[in-house]
Amino acid sequence: MQLTIRNLNKTYPNGVKALQDVSLDIPTGMYGLLGPNGAGKSTLMRTLATLQEADSGSATLGDMDVLKDKDAVRRTLGYLPQEFGVYPRISALEMLDHLAVLKGIPAGQRKEVVNALLQRVNLWEHRKKSVSSYSGGMRQRFGIAQALLGDPKLIIVDEPTAGLDPGERNRFYNLLSEIGENVIVILSTHIVEDVKELCSNMAIINNGRVLYDGSPDAALHQLDGKVWEKAIAKSEIDDYQQRYRVISSKLVAGKPIIHILSDTDPGDGFRRTDADLEDVFFAKIHGGE
Ligand code: ADP
Repeated sequence: MQLTIRNLNKTYPNGVKALQDVSLDIPTGMYGLLGPNGAGKSTLMRTLATLQEADSGSATLGDMDVLKDKDAVRRTLGYLPQEFGVYPRISALEMLDHLAVLKGIPAGQRKEVVNALLQRVNLWEHRKKSVSSYSGGMRQRFGIAQALLGDPKLIIVDEPTAGLDPGERNRFYNLLSEIGENVIVILSTHIVEDVKELCSNMAIINNGRVLYDGSPDAALHQLDGKVWEKAIAKSEIDDYQQRYRVISSKLVAGKPIIHILSDTDPGDGFRRTDADLEDVFFAKIHGGE
């Protein structure tokens, strides 16, 4: 099974071109959709989740037309939106059971399915509490449980780690990575770490356009030998930005370490460093490569 997206376009009434000729081939496994805020990730996710229309283009999942066969897609889709909305004051168990009814899971199987999912996402102990009383991490795990109802073949997770502390984020990563190898999981995020840890394939998008599509390793390979670093003084940043293609700057012990792109040794106290995914991201976003 593969998700094939061809030439998707979307312009909002205010003139914002949120998707511009987006074409992607998304295989089974975890797929990272990486881009800064406003890149067009949610627009793409919502379009694939049949919640909004594209202006033109196509998307097929196996032999299903994602943009036209909406009912069929909804039966095989699990969606964890960025904002899950307000939770009623009923227990997580009741809520998941209710969502299972909506998903069309037969009455005879429902109890077993719901119980198994609550165990799988490690919320069994907390099943009697209302989701509105859950921590951010617990809510996201509940979100995954509801997304997994009905054995979806396509799972879409929009900015799932926003607001999670590092421990919660790790638990959430582990859960996602266990979801299985025979489904497509699209993880949209602006956090490079999320993709680095989890995804064997990824795309980088910005301003509605695909800037990179491939494996994280291949992306790193493109920058082999081209990333150089130097510790500088804070007051020098502007000056370096004028003179070099600065792709990132990080504070290490209060001092900025900048990374620049250069095909040849820039001298000037720079030393060569291994590219990391963050370099790839910023190099693409800043149009350096
Ligand atoms: P991301 O999820 O990557 O942050 P979005 O898909 O939410 O990006 O937004 C892409 C662009 O489209 C942004 O410039 C955003 O302001 C704009 N946008 C999103 N939704 C709407 C809307 N309903 N109407 C007008 N503009 C929108």
